[in-house]
Amino acid sequence: ERRPLIAGNWKMHLTSDQAVALARTIADAASDVADRDVMIAPAFTSLPAVAEVLADSPVLLGAQNVAWEEQGAFTGEVSPVMLREFGVSLVIVGHSERRHIFGETDDLINRRLCGALRFGLVPILCVGETLEDREDGITMQILEQQVRSGLAGVEAGDMARVVIAYEPVWAIGTGKTASKEQAQEAHRFIRSVVGNLYEKKLAQQVRILYGGSVKPENVDSLMAEPDIDGALVGGAALKSESFARIIHFI
Ligand code: 13P
Repeated sequence: ERRPLIAGNWKMHLTSDQAVALARTIADAASDVADRDVMIAPAFTSLPAVAEVLADSPVLLGAQNVAWEEQGAFTGEVSPVMLREFGVSLVIVGHSERRHIFGETDDLINRRLCGALRFGLVPILCVGETLEDREDGITMQILEQQVRSGLAGVEAGDMARVVIAYEPVWAIGTGKTASKEQAQEAHRFIRSVVGNLYEKKLAQQVRILYGGSVKPENVDSLMAEPDIDGALVGGAALKSESFARIIHFI
């Protein structure tokens, strides 16, 4: 009963013109999908142009980050209200690149997530262990910590809208996908953490996406796992044929 969500994270790629061209092909490719959600998250600068392309399409518009106040002295940030202005409905928070390249902490990520919820955006909270964490055997502790602090202060009514993405850092942009067993184990664990924080029923409703080298060749087997409800796709989301195949996962 959880509606699948296939989300493309375009990261810092494509000029606005290039983004429009890719968005057109994706809007075409997604015109026949009715039983799943599709989202693309271009760079901030491409949001207005891509929003126009998606206006008559079922493809949802996402952003790659968000601030937590409506406006103010936050140089370099974009507010949830500014995103809403262009029809953005989902926003990625806590992506591993934000955590590791830009030093975003669990506390900062929690503020972003709460800001998104407060202004009616659906946050996609990204969590994931590094290779070192996995080799040290602390994967589940890291995931629990990131989920608990990411969701701090979120009430059950809002939690029903939150999406979580499990993205093992060692699988991002490396071509190394987590095995379906590794991914399923992490997803089931994340759902159990949500179940301890909220009611079991709510945990059963929360969508948990897998991210990390998702491609046409592995999407079907990942999506067949019981706790994998979608994909957060980086590199393959920039290739129209690959992304078209991924959104048509079987
Ligand atoms: P890749 O699909 O390129 O591994 O990127 C995953 C990711 O970080 C999506 O947010």
